[in-house]
Amino acid sequence: MSFEKNIRTVVPYTPGEQPQRRVIKLNTNESPYAPSPKVAEVLHSFDADSLRRYPQPDCHVLTEALAAYHHVEEDQVFVGVGSDDVLSMCFLTFFAGEKPILFPDITYSFYEVWAAVYRIPFIKVPLTDQFELRPEDYRRENGGIVFANPNAPTGKAMSLTGVEQIIKENPDSVVIVDEAYVDFGGESALPLISRYDNLLVTRTMSKARALAGMRIGYALGSKKLIRYLNDVKFSVNSYTMNAPSLAVGVASLEDERYFRETTAKTIATREWTKEQLKKLGFFFPDSQTNFIFASRPGTSAERLFEQLKQRDIYVRYFRQPVLDQYLRITIGTQQEMETLIRELETLLKKNF
Ligand code: PMP
Repeated sequence: MSFEKNIRTVVPYTPGEQPQRRVIKLNTNESPYAPSPKVAEVLHSFDADSLRRYPQPDCHVLTEALAAYHHVEEDQVFVGVGSDDVLSMCFLTFFAGEKPILFPDITYSFYEVWAAVYRIPFIKVPLTDQFELRPEDYRRENGGIVFANPNAPTGKAMSLTGVEQIIKENPDSVVIVDEAYVDFGGESALPLISRYDNLLVTRTMSKARALAGMRIGYALGSKKLIRYLNDVKFSVNSYTMNAPSLAVGVASLEDERYFRETTAKTIATREWTKEQLKKLGFFFPDSQTNFIFASRPGTSAERLFEQLKQRDIYVRYFRQPVLDQYLRITIGTQQEMETLIRELETLLKKNF
């Protein structure tokens, strides 16, 4: 058909399954705990009449709360509909040159999709065979750099020294550090934003704050970068965040104790799960996140994935070279992980 030549065609990102039935859901790195009770309070008392009005286009209530929380100024904060929205806006804003941007060959697969949809040339920089990112590999001409730290789906974190080396050696590029999982481990690059105006750090409330369904993400960086981001955002869609999301984001930040307690529980369960998986013959990069990327020599990850699914345990399986030898297992409650380990034990005895 003739109109098709004018259509932008891309291979889209494939999100993990969201089954409607109640299953043990360990496939999209969500929190197994409810959000803070303060979030429930805000939602219950939300004034529906106020929805007649547009939400704040600059997301002021939330940028103000985030600035206070992270000890930065309000014009160093940018808020979006999950960090996917924030990152996509960053790609559109900061990667508009002709030189290829750089990101690891094994990382969040959305980076490649945004590069494709915005027509940004890119080079995938190989990780080592231990899934390590080598800062010196980013010492080459580029139009920008993005990486997740800790990385996904490997779960591995790079030292702050390594992150700083990349930023320092690329003063002419914007460097985006995607810290979706930093609440669970690794070192944040946030202390560096006051020293490097080419650094942008992105965060999410979807994981440790248990708000994936609300869609709240944000970026922190120099005032200059945040201004450029806002200019593009206001040129695409000025009302991104809805009013309930803004209120919920603020409420979550007000309950630091709950955030710390639930995060600590997830970390403790992760460490327990690592031990159990080791005993069952799995190996994995040392995870600093709320998931474990595990493989077992001689065992088909795909079969294991299917068999677990039949038992209503959903983990993530990626059908692509190297990754297809692994299962990415989100850390659920202690009880859920005990069930998983029991089922794995039974399956490995019987079928593999
Ligand atoms: N970055 C990484 C590395 C992720 O794994 C995810 C979650 N899929 C995101 C960003 C996006 O998270 P959200 O849009 O829910 O904030």
